[in-house]
Amino acid sequence: MKIYLDGKMVEKAEAVVSVFDHGLLYGDGVFEGIRTYNGRVFKLDEHLSRLEDSGRAIMLAMPLSREEMKKAVLDTLRVNGLKDAYIRLVVTRGVGDLGLDPRKCHEKGTVIIITDKINLYPEEHYHNGLEVVTVATRRNLPEAVNPKIKSLNYLNNILAKIEANNAGVLEAIMLSADGWVAECTGDNIFIVRKGELITPPTHIGALDGITRGTVMGLARKFGIPCNEALFTRYDIYNADECFLTGTAAEVIPVSKVDTRPIGTGKPGPITLKLVEAYKGLTRSEGVPI
Ligand code: PMP
Repeated sequence: MKIYLDGKMVEKAEAVVSVFDHGLLYGDGVFEGIRTYNGRVFKLDEHLSRLEDSGRAIMLAMPLSREEMKKAVLDTLRVNGLKDAYIRLVVTRGVGDLGLDPRKCHEKGTVIIITDKINLYPEEHYHNGLEVVTVATRRNLPEAVNPKIKSLNYLNNILAKIEANNAGVLEAIMLSADGWVAECTGDNIFIVRKGELITPPTHIGALDGITRGTVMGLARKFGIPCNEALFTRYDIYNADECFLTGTAAEVIPVSKVDTRPIGTGKPGPITLKLVEAYKGLTRSEGVPI
């Protein structure tokens, strides 16, 4: 396996960064998780655009232009001969002196591209639904570290994931400080109520997920009303359907939340329609490797 590291393709064992990299020392950096299907990179421009936006928000200039970044991603996939893969693209503030001040980093940021196998939820959950819980750890305040920034500082999500692990489930619902449903540790959330899709607005503290946007587009195409609105755990418990979206997860039905079955306790018709439509789309478009 070859890793792209600052312009070079290096073997996995040699793909190492300095202990003075501010990505490691302070979580100072941004990243993306992208997928390829059957030799095509799905929504590459959308992911690169979000990476640039995350960078702009923390005043981290991309060391590569959009076109150079695209080429680097495609080259890494080509070198590894991968057609179906998960891509982890990381840009850190780079190597510097100790001290959190970004001005202590003298070089351009570090660019890392890892292309690897996809780590998915077990297949059974796509048929039977996933059980999730709400956790005590609240999503970061948008006024502090805005969850719209896909930064290397994922401790907020990790703390929630630990709670999910302790509860014996695979994903956790995180609330905003005010108690609104925000998102999950690595996925966005939707509910279906009376034929209408509802997902939290990102301003309350959620990543503007690429899959979320894609699913909203599919819903529009099918004439399914889709709105961004604030809702609480009560609204999930009383929803007809619930599902999560994410690049790795795709669209995954939720069968149970905080031990309460959602709807019939089985994946609902709108969810299943979107699961299939999303699958179809991922396998029919994308940037060729
Ligand atoms: N929320 C969080 C916190 C995430 O980390 C992710 C991606 N891993 C998502 C939502 C889903 O975003 P996307 O559809 O762009 O993968």
